[in-house]
Amino acid sequence: MDCIFCQIIAGKLPSEILYQDEEVFAFRDISPQAPTHLVIIPKKHIPSLIDLTGEELPLIGHMVDVAYKLAQKEGIAESGYRLAINCGPWGGQLVPHLHMHLIGGRQLSGRLG
Ligand code: 5GP
Ligand code: ZN
Repeated sequence: MDCIFCQIIAGKLPSEILYQDEEVFAFRDISPQAPTHLVIIPKKHIPSLIDLTGEELPLIGHMVDVAYKLAQKEGIAESGYRLAINCGPWGGQLVPHLHMHLIGGRQLSGRLG
């Protein structure tokens, strides 16, 4: 088990846990790009979006819902926020465990890459 995010879920690496249920886990990004920068992940080790099966697709909706609730808790739901899932090397994915970034708390640039 050399996956950083699996180790965070297992409590073997420290993190600021913000939410968890049977399927999803969320924590604050260690290197925030904005005042609010959270990471939302499935508890199951799915390496990337391209590895997601049809059966697992509802997980994404669940993660979007968790993101909305966390945005409300962070006080940024009304001002707006960005959800991003980087996929693969050219998509900028560094950690090979599917994750959604929730970023907000300042005016974000319109540039995506
Ligand atoms: P990626 O570039 O793969 O889409 O994003 C990975 C994110 O995970 C980065 O924003 C990075 O700062 C964050 N990250 C990497 N390692 C750790 C860690 O050990 N703890 C936390 N909280 N975040 C991490
Ligand atoms: Zn993992």
